[in-house]
Amino acid sequence: MSEAIGFEIENDLAVYKTLLESTQAIPWKIDWDSKSFSYVGPQLESLLGWECSSWVSVQDWVDRMHPEDRAWAVDYCIAQSIAGVDHEADYRALTKGGDYIWIRDVVHVVRKPDGTVDSLIGFMFDISERKQTEHRLLALQKELEEMSFKDGLTGAANRRRFDLVLDREWADARRSREPISMIMLDIDYFKQYNDHYGHLQGDACLKQIAALLSGAATRLRDFYARFGGEEFAMVLPETDEASAHAVASRCRELIARAAIGHGASPLGSVLTVSIGVATAIPGRNDEHFAFLDLADRRLYEAKQQGRDRIV
Ligand code: GH3
Ligand code: MG
Ligand code: MG
Repeated sequence: MSEAIGFEIENDLAVYKTLLESTQAIPWKIDWDSKSFSYVGPQLESLLGWECSSWVSVQDWVDRMHPEDRAWAVDYCIAQSIAGVDHEADYRALTKGGDYIWIRDVVHVVRKPDGTVDSLIGFMFDISERKQTEHRLLALQKELEEMSFKDGLTGAANRRRFDLVLDREWADARRSREPISMIMLDIDYFKQYNDHYGHLQGDACLKQIAALLSGAATRLRDFYARFGGEEFAMVLPETDEASAHAVASRCRELIARAAIGHGASPLGSVLTVSIGVATAIPGRNDEHFAFLDLADRRLYEAKQQGRDRIV
């Protein structure tokens, strides 16, 4: 080798080393036979706080991994390495300060001419910011999803959610051949209430009614929602007519006991409600539309018969 070429190679190596050690990620190399690091970039110290001299065996890497990530990440990396497959793994790495940083380890498997593993080389990227954004997005998505099923004024489930629950419970009742009941509740003379007290107090009244109704049905699968305007609805799975009537009575009592003043009601001085109750044992091919319609018709009858009652 001539002196000039030797100088060039040496010069190139210096360039590569500079490039390698000026990236944000931590470069490393593991010698497979000895399961030890033959190289780890000085970035280890700036990113995780550990001195390179403390990063010797593969065990040093394993020990400084979050216990919850350790089992799968180590197993996965070993399995992929043995299979000779390049891979990457996300895990939390322990810093010298005792915190954890999300790392994406990107690994290339170097093989010997006979195909067995010679060494692993890779980069550890700090992905904590990306993970934080991911978590924030997930939380936001969850919040949005919850919001999309919630009535903004009362905090009760909304019509969208009601439709889904009714759909699910109806299908379940069709399978189990158990009775399912539904309650439709509408405030009497609420237009007059608004006219008399103003829309804001009307809103407050709706909130109060929603809160009262949330305590009326007590079984785990009982469900209630703001159906729309000043109408509320309940789905009561595995509930027969008598039990549904008892829940409807409780709704009425809870509202009567709250004695919400209604100075413009033709029925008296307090706010009242009308309720329609329906119970069905759905047949194999029955749809829930007729069931909903029946509850609605009974509510209408309650109104027709003079309000402040259950039909
Ligand atoms: P009925 O006894 O026959 O049920 O008569 P009503 O006046 O209660 O029924 P109607 O359907 O004529 O009027 C319902 C009223 O409910 C009209 C509407 O302004 C009011 N309303 C619906 N949603 C809201 C709301 O979010 N806030 C307030 N304040 N009022 C609402
Ligand atoms: Mg009404
Ligand atoms: Mg109404």
